[in-house]
Amino acid sequence: MGEKKKIIKTIKIDADKCNGCRSCEVICSAFHAEPKYSSNNPARSRIRVIRDPIRDIYIPVCAGEYTPAECMGRDKYVIDGKEYDECSFCRASCPSRKEFKEPDSGLPLKCDMCEGEDEPLCVKWCITDALTYEEREEEVEEEGEEQEELEIGLESLVDKHGLDKIMDTIARISNKG
Ligand code: SF4
Ligand code: SF4
Repeated sequence: MGEKKKIIKTIKIDADKCNGCRSCEVICSAFHAEPKYSSNNPARSRIRVIRDPIRDIYIPVCAGEYTPAECMGRDKYVIDGKEYDECSFCRASCPSRKEFKEPDSGLPLKCDMCEGEDEPLCVKWCITDALTYEEREEEVEEEGEEQEELEIGLESLVDKHGLDKIMDTIARISNKG
């Protein structure tokens, strides 16, 4: 495997500026709806705002990697006297939370930086500038990203339905074709 240049895209999150308006959730779920913009259900969003209005806590979190296992130990954060829940800052789609899972299929959702758009839409829609977009170039090892994504999707389906059922379904589909 060789080295190649890769653009690293980052959304910088300033939680202090977030007012919990949830515009980011609305536009993210609308952009990823089928057909595009046909619905806006925050449960399908790849960014979720962890909200606790009584304690004045709003933490926007973009969906990261799928993980089949829950953490055995968890961290609790206290920042400026506010105590945050154990999973507040975590980006994982994991068995212990409902965030970052497609509500109908249970498939993991992952931020794709609004593929095809010149700027992430959640950043564009955030009027308080809690979200800002940054790009930088890095040398990275070449790897099969598509293959990796396919494997993650299959792994989560196997976790949900069991390998036998998935194999049966694949066999049925290929017989149809
Ligand atoms: S759009 Fe910005 S201010 Fe509104 S919830 Fe999202 S991150 Fe917070
Ligand atoms: S960058 Fe796009 S896909 Fe990622 S959380 Fe924001 S709106 Fe959703």
